[in-house]
Amino acid sequence: MQPLKIYNTLSREKELFTPIHENHVGLYVCGPTVYNYVHLGNLRTFTSFDILNRYLLHIGYKVRYVRNITDVGHLVGDGDEGEDKIGKMAKLEKLEPMEIVHRFTQDFHQVLEKFNVLPPSIEPTATGHIVEQIETTKSLIEKGLAYESNGSVYFDIETYNKNGGNYGHLSGRVIEDLLTETRDLDGVGEKRNPLDFALWKKAAPEHIMRWPSPWGEGFPGWHLECTCMSHKYLGDTFDIHGGGMDLKFPHHECEIAQAKAAYDRAPVRYWMHTNMLTVNGQKMSKSLGNSFLPSELFAGNHPLLDQAYSPMTVRFFMLQSQYRSTLDFSNDALKAAQKGYKKIANGLRIIKKLAYPSDITANPDAAQEKEINDAIQGCYDGMNDDLNTAVAIAHLFTLLKKINSIYTGSLAFESISAETFSNLQRSYVSILEDVLGIKEEVPAEMNGLTEELLALYKGFKESRQYDKVDEIRGAFKSAGLLIKDMKNSIDWGYEE
Ligand code: AMP
Ligand code: ZN
Repeated sequence: MQPLKIYNTLSREKELFTPIHENHVGLYVCGPTVYNYVHLGNLRTFTSFDILNRYLLHIGYKVRYVRNITDVGHLVGDGDEGEDKIGKMAKLEKLEPMEIVHRFTQDFHQVLEKFNVLPPSIEPTATGHIVEQIETTKSLIEKGLAYESNGSVYFDIETYNKNGGNYGHLSGRVIEDLLTETRDLDGVGEKRNPLDFALWKKAAPEHIMRWPSPWGEGFPGWHLECTCMSHKYLGDTFDIHGGGMDLKFPHHECEIAQAKAAYDRAPVRYWMHTNMLTVNGQKMSKSLGNSFLPSELFAGNHPLLDQAYSPMTVRFFMLQSQYRSTLDFSNDALKAAQKGYKKIANGLRIIKKLAYPSDITANPDAAQEKEINDAIQGCYDGMNDDLNTAVAIAHLFTLLKKINSIYTGSLAFESISAETFSNLQRSYVSILEDVLGIKEEVPAEMNGLTEELLALYKGFKESRQYDKVDEIRGAFKSAGLLIKDMKNSIDWGYEE
């Protein structure tokens, strides 16, 4: 197994990853609140955890990947008061809340598929686990760590901390500071302590999403769903829990408190948080008005966009920085990523087609072999160093140079052994396709036609029908492809 180190928000250190159960990893990632279209910022977080999932699978683990859908309980403002995000949208659009949920869950799935993000093993919903949330709330009341107040139930932070809880540890918040910061608007008068958070909320008469409970009609608090669902599918303590860093507090801090209180142990070994996608240094978010949707990106029809960008260009752009650094959106960065992606994709086409000749006698050049093998190792070292995709990609470019040299003949097959060639071929393809999820993107209009058109092109060239030759060349070009006339062969590639 590869020595994977991941940065644990809990210990504030990079730690060697060792799963609880040999070869099996339990991974939970907080999914979206499905009241709106997924924007590019959300996508960065889900792509980062896709890389983790893919890398764990690649190095031989079995992964139970749970990513939830929040379809109730997340209130506007992220606190304990106000309208439900989904309920509010349903009222605005005069639709059933479940119509909103269905529409945006579908959008979420479609977008992730376009960006080649693998689906999780389980995708539970908050509304599908109301019973578990009521049961957990009941048990927290029985344990004296939660209390009912006016039809709502709150988690009792003071008692939790007196019993050895460490509320604030994950996010590095100090209780006293939190208290001075909190203007107690949430649940005014109902809470014993302003920091207490809702496990269950009484539904106001106009609140449309509501369920019967021992405390009257209401709905679950936002943080509770993740505790109940991760516990149900991954157990008392599981390996990795992730989400965007904006979820550290209060969401994940509350998850830890509830789970420790309910199940008497820390729920998670490694907490991972992804950094934000920013626009001019500001977090990309719907509410700040600086977000854009994947569909706007593909069409290039947003004031912030100079041109259209494809899903793989955007994925490549995101992977060029490590998940813990901020990533600032800019047209220049995306254009550079587009160039880089096309180069890398050309390498994929080429290496898949190349075969080591069976009729040669190899006379391997030790320096060439070392460069190739070091670059392959470099990709793994990068991934093992807290999933540093930027480093892995830099080494892939070294491999790409070798692939291009073999392709053009400037590096003879004889100078590398058959074993090194097959290592190069296997590693380049599997690191790109399996680990990074980068694949070739043949324009739809050319899909399945390229080889046939190329054969026609060759024929027209031989018969000197240059008007036809130009026509085919033009068809490739308008699809962003290029016909390459080389000394001994003709091929096509992506225009870089
Ligand atoms: P939400 O639907 O707003 O709860 O967000 C879903 C996920 O996307 C959460 O894990 C957020 O942390 C993450 N997220 C939201 N905005 C951004 C951003 N600008 N960059 C990276 N991740 C984000
Ligand atoms: Zn969550």
